[in-house]
Amino acid sequence: MAKKQGHYCKVCGTYRSNESFSGKGHSAYICKKCAALSPAERSKEMTLTRLMNLPYRLSAEQKAWLKGLQKSDCHEIAETAKAVYAEHFPYAERNERKKLLHIKEMTFHIQDELWDEYGDSFDAQITFTLDRKSRQISCTQAETTDTVELPEKEMKKLLNRIVSEYEVFCWEEDFSQSDFDSFDGDDEGGSDFAENESADDTEQPSWSVSISYSNGEEQQMKGFDIPIRVNELALDLLQYFEDDADDDEIYF
Ligand SMILES: [Zn+2]
Repeated sequence: MAKKQGHYCKVCGTYRSNESFSGKGHSAYICKKCAALSPAERSKEMTLTRLMNLPYRLSAEQKAWLKGLQKSDCHEIAETAKAVYAEHFPYAERNERKKLLHIKEMTFHIQDELWDEYGDSFDAQITFTLDRKSRQISCTQAETTDTVELPEKEMKKLLNRIVSEYEVFCWEEDFSQSDFDSFDGDDEGGSDFAENESADDTEQPSWSVSISYSNGEEQQMKGFDIPIRVNELALDLLQYFEDDADDDEIYF
């Protein structure tokens, strides 16, 4: 340390010359500039510096510290902690959401080509509706609606699968490419569906989903091509309506 010309200030995280440190500040590694800050400001700066300098691999303590900071009263610290956390654990937030979202009702409409499990494409114009309470799935194709009723356990499994495997609640984020340029800025905390609707109305979406969850959340999403996950969910649902499934209860 003596060989070096200066050292890092532990508050601002900047490498500074020896002259930038003085007296008490010097032994505590706090530069003059930071020493002049109020204690609250200094502690905030120090926390932000530590946040920005966390190693790639976090110890259990660092992870716990980072988690706790997301609830900080200081907005800047909380926001930074959330961003750093998301960087370290990119799927954590998504996995947290999965635990909270239970589909109550869902309508899933497809109007495009789909690929079957053999890789052959077919024209699809299908509307599925799923309802947790009645445990019914219905499938409307060519003006004919078929409905099947699943055992409670199976219905639960299917609805869970749609959230946890197909990650339906992220479809907008994952698959909607065309919606981004229609936003003027980041107006946070509002549903923009109504505004988008009119802009894209001319083009028929390849798929659309509307879901209500048991926690009261609602989602409406659509996209203009068929990604694999959308295709697979459609096939998954179609198999409940296959003709040879004569053991199922099918109502017309
Ligand atoms: Zn400093």
